[in-house]
Amino acid sequence: MATTNTIRFYDRALSRLSRRELLNIAWKLGVAAIAQPTVSLAAWAQPAFRTYPFSLGVASGDPWADSVALWTRLAPEPLTGGGMPTANVEVGWEVAADPAFRTIVRNGTAIARPELGHSVHVEAGGLSPAREYWYRFRCGGEVSQTGRTKTAPAAGAAVDRLRFGVCGCGHYETGFFSAYGRVADEAFDFIFHTGDYIYEGRGDTGRNPSNVRRHLGQEIYTVVDYRNRYAQYKSDPDLMAAHHSAPMIVTWDDHEVDNDYAGDRDERDTPPEVFLLRRAAAYQAYFESMPLRASAMPTGPNLPLYRRLRFGNLLDLSVLDTRQYRSKQACATTTQPDCLKTATDPARTILGAAQEEWLFKNLAASTGTWTVLGQQVPTFGRNNSGTNPDAPFSMDKWDGYTAGRQRLYQRLADAKTPNPIVLSGDVHTHWCADLKMDYSSPKSATVGVEFTNSSVTSGGDGSETQANWERLHADNPHLTYHSNKRGYIACTATPKTMQADFRVIERITVAGGAARTAATRVVEAGRPGSHTS
Ligand code: FE
Ligand code: CA
Repeated sequence: MATTNTIRFYDRALSRLSRRELLNIAWKLGVAAIAQPTVSLAAWAQPAFRTYPFSLGVASGDPWADSVALWTRLAPEPLTGGGMPTANVEVGWEVAADPAFRTIVRNGTAIARPELGHSVHVEAGGLSPAREYWYRFRCGGEVSQTGRTKTAPAAGAAVDRLRFGVCGCGHYETGFFSAYGRVADEAFDFIFHTGDYIYEGRGDTGRNPSNVRRHLGQEIYTVVDYRNRYAQYKSDPDLMAAHHSAPMIVTWDDHEVDNDYAGDRDERDTPPEVFLLRRAAAYQAYFESMPLRASAMPTGPNLPLYRRLRFGNLLDLSVLDTRQYRSKQACATTTQPDCLKTATDPARTILGAAQEEWLFKNLAASTGTWTVLGQQVPTFGRNNSGTNPDAPFSMDKWDGYTAGRQRLYQRLADAKTPNPIVLSGDVHTHWCADLKMDYSSPKSATVGVEFTNSSVTSGGDGSETQANWERLHADNPHLTYHSNKRGYIACTATPKTMQADFRVIERITVAGGAARTAATRVVEAGRPGSHTS
């Protein structure tokens, strides 16, 4: 145990605490000793954490040309509430031009507050565009891990190449996070996470023999439950490595709250005002656990997550939230009476009116060669059913919100949005799809291309057969790739092409799996549609 460590508490209220109260807090902190304040703003001398407070690693996110969001959370006892005292704690941060921190370009202090689970959110500004930085935090004499991050190119700047990863759906129980580990190895310019970062279910108690790990505890409901679940996931070395390798731009899907929830409705028809209490707890823990900017601070059950990021003249990214504002799914299965009639009702929405209006403005004002929509559930039409109008299809995807999809595709066409690329996840399988104005008519116009990433682990090892692909492709001629193996997508954008390398991991039920490129699909700027390179 370090004995020379120092934690400074600059909270004025704390400076007025008695020695006995301080000792009580020191005990809760797990500190060896704690001195009375020695300066006017209550600096505490010589406490030491009993266990490492940076147990959840560090992260960065939402790169702009001059700033980046930095994140950590103090959690000496990560799986049981965090182990911090109910007091404000000062945390130092540093951004350097080199991984050895010889040239520190920015530094400062932030307050880790008990209200936010002692998470730390910093927006480090005054940085140069399109360059790598390294960052770390300090607290109580302890130093965090070092994260690598990268700022976005300046507005309008010519950019030769951007490399980014697309991943999501990492169920802790069904496999090891090798895909996150391989994403880390790539040292991308940024990583886009399509959601299902955690899963909310209770610990599997042997029902699924292929599960390799187990969630702690029951299904999660309270903010502490969600914090502990994030902590269990973030303790994974591969997920931590992914965060340490590059800025992550995150959005969520359903499992950050509850399976297939829609707005204020859950699957069990819980009264909306009751479900919103759970949603508030989940959204708070999400904010606490992610490298988001202060603009994403939640207010009750609301968290403004949709946002726009720009990468020079090359890429214009709108990050969408198709959960918080959506209408309830039309039905559980398309075989229910009137299901499809409901699904096509133009009054139903997956984005909500305000987000749709915001997105449609972006689509008419794209500043990139590539206009990217980063989101969660696939927009592409009727997978598994294709031109057969009677086959069932999932009501949880854009297929269940067909009027909204049609408005989106029509907008892409009408606004002459440059080179639309949609990134999505959720379905635990890789897909490359040409987006069609009318999925029942293969000859209809292609309005963009969608890359859907398979899962990090969800669904288990997976398998694929040529016969399956041939059946899918016969029904869905707009598809250009499918794989039922786990993995992620490595994208390379240049002024001429957008390339998607679909990486797969042969087995995720053993740790340390390697990635191979199972397929590559390329989109040429100015020519809608995807093809093999
Ligand atoms: Fe998922
Ligand atoms: Ca999902």
